[in-house]
Amino acid sequence: MYNSPVLFDQSDTIVEKFTMQPERRKYLIISDQKKTDVVKHFMNDIEQQVQYESYEINGEADLEKVNEVLILQKMGTQLYIAADWDNAVDIFTAAVEAGFTEEDIQTVIYGPKRRYVYCMKCYRLNEINKEKEAQCSHCDAMMEVGPFFSKVRKGYIGYPFIPVKSF
Ligand SMILES: [Zn+2]
Repeated sequence: MYNSPVLFDQSDTIVEKFTMQPERRKYLIISDQKKTDVVKHFMNDIEQQVQYESYEINGEADLEKVNEVLILQKMGTQLYIAADWDNAVDIFTAAVEAGFTEEDIQTVIYGPKRRYVYCMKCYRLNEINKEKEAQCSHCDAMMEVGPFFSKVRKGYIGYPFIPVKSF
């Protein structure tokens, strides 16, 4: 079974700043805010060097338009996403559905990245921070947060354990 790429906090597509990909024919930049420094600097760098398009999204309607734009791209387009976590996930997911691979995408996240653990006892997701152990909010099991992110489960695998009782 083929697992589509999913955006997660350790994803290879997440970068501090965008870098040029000279072998690409075209750049597509999608951001969710008025041009921030990250986007502005990058546009200055690439100006007159490469063909590019940029879009700003601000709500559902724009996201639909971005969907159309993504589907119309030819092979060889490099996608740059600059957005907060939730918007980045939406854009990334739309891009993957439109046929982009992880190598075709660079993502700059504004603000915190979300992280999820998948409970192996009740098979549900919990949002977590950086902790190594977490309690499942659905079944109360204590879990050790494993190092493996499951693209199918969309979370890090959480291994339930019985806490040692202190008397
Ligand atoms: Zn659970």
